[in-house]
Amino acid sequence: MSEQISKPVRVLSIAGSDSGGGAGIQADIKAITALGGYATTAITALTAQNTVGVQAIYPVLASFLSQQIRSVLSDLGTDAFKTGMLGGNAEIDVIADEISEYRLTNPNTVFVLDPVMVAKGGAALMQEDVIQSIQKKLFPLATVLTPNLPEAERLTGLSLASVADMKAAARMLHAQSGNAILLKGGHLSGDTLVDVLLTQDGFTEFSDTRLDTCHTHGTGCTLASALATFLAQKKTLIDAVALARTYVRQAILEAPHFGKGDGPLWHAH
Ligand code: PLP
Repeated sequence: MSEQISKPVRVLSIAGSDSGGGAGIQADIKAITALGGYATTAITALTAQNTVGVQAIYPVLASFLSQQIRSVLSDLGTDAFKTGMLGGNAEIDVIADEISEYRLTNPNTVFVLDPVMVAKGGAALMQEDVIQSIQKKLFPLATVLTPNLPEAERLTGLSLASVADMKAAARMLHAQSGNAILLKGGHLSGDTLVDVLLTQDGFTEFSDTRLDTCHTHGTGCTLASALATFLAQKKTLIDAVALARTYVRQAILEAPHFGKGDGPLWHAH
């Protein structure tokens, strides 16, 4: 086997730490590793968190976030970026600058942007002005955005109650950003769960039967990390989405039933 083929892809996760190990950086490292990738990290904030909720948030200084990203990129490099829970405007500037600079010499580096805004338990993880800053500075750099239904509603101002509504929101987000959009429909009611992918070539729908589970904490992080890993492994976007969805479904099915609340998933290896 050539050195090129045997080397794992590198995925840099820029996200918040979840002390409960269910979401955020911890979910990202587990998913990337389980899929054969090499995970590096730049932590935007520490959370004191478990399956029941977020008890406290301790943000990281923008200058230290920048140092973490530089330490990784200047030595190890990366094949993909994945962003999750981000800090404030100064941190968004740092992330946009670092990704743009790295892309000058590595133009094909994938960027999966998961616009994390609220924790599943309802805790706000992002302020309004920060959302605008992400739209302006990070959206244009992303390969694909992975909003869930409430995030897409907040980004578009639309109220989303059907797959047709989701397609309208995806079109709006695609027009805003020029990116591919994977709009996740798990928050819609019904026995079938539909995600909608919009690329320059049009829509692809992915559907599955809904799992009766409370283990959904960390599914967004896991899906985005799996997607970044598969894209770095040179899968097409449609194949990468299908594989990432299958991975998340399996991780839900194998959930270990820890804690009194929501999640965590199980990342088999
Ligand atoms: N990142 C962090 C640090 C979080 O605490 C959370 C949710 O609590 C998320 C991301 C989003 O998690 P999910 O994958 O469940 O959407």
